[in-house]
Amino acid sequence: MNKIKLTKKDIYQGNLILVNSKNLLKEQDEVKDLEPFNYEFPNILLNKEANEHLQDALKEIEAYSKIVPVSGYRSLKEQQDLFNTSLKENGREFTYSYVALPNASEHQTGLAIDLGLNQDNIDFIRPSFPYEGICQEFREIAPKYGFVERYLKVKQNITLIDAEEWHFRYVGYPHSEIMVANDFCLEEYIAFLKKGPFNYKDYEITYLPYKKDNIEVEIDETTRISGNNQDGFIITKKVK
Ligand SMILES: [Zn+2]
Repeated sequence: MNKIKLTKKDIYQGNLILVNSKNLLKEQDEVKDLEPFNYEFPNILLNKEANEHLQDALKEIEAYSKIVPVSGYRSLKEQQDLFNTSLKENGREFTYSYVALPNASEHQTGLAIDLGLNQDNIDFIRPSFPYEGICQEFREIAPKYGFVERYLKVKQNITLIDAEEWHFRYVGYPHSEIMVANDFCLEEYIAFLKKGPFNYKDYEITYLPYKKDNIEVEIDETTRISGNNQDGFIITKKVK
């Protein structure tokens, strides 16, 4: 067993951070661990761990060339520009429904990817990603690889974002599977975790509220720690 010290800054990073209009990104260090989707899309960047799992998922269903990445990591400035351009071109209602405000976008974390069915004239803001065929196949295996479809129509009253069937968020396994199995959107899952530790398969998941700096946590090689971007940490461990 080793020990790791957590500080306030750690609340704002990790695979499970909740980023939305009520939980804005804090002033961050430069987002690290980004890599290109692949050599064909050198400008679409994604968190390295997330991308590795995404590539494995696409490989499993042989989706290369059928599914393409449309938008990955965005800097604060890129999100700002996208928001302002959309306001001008698409108006207020559309923009507030589909484009997150600067610092409210998961795209600024490197953990979100918009995917599109490969076809002519792919819409940058709303790519087509239908509930059938290869796209549906991806949707069904995504949780096994740590991804969830983030904005469902039925959760719009909670996420405050309209249905975005193309937007996938990496939260890591087993969280993705737990969320789907329980019909949780990320807002609900983060709230659920605060009710106390629980076990899923051979994982133990514990929420640790932040109280002071330098909290010591015992870790082993299976331990994963993420902030929730609110008030604490989620510790995921394998138990034998
Ligand atoms: Zn998106």
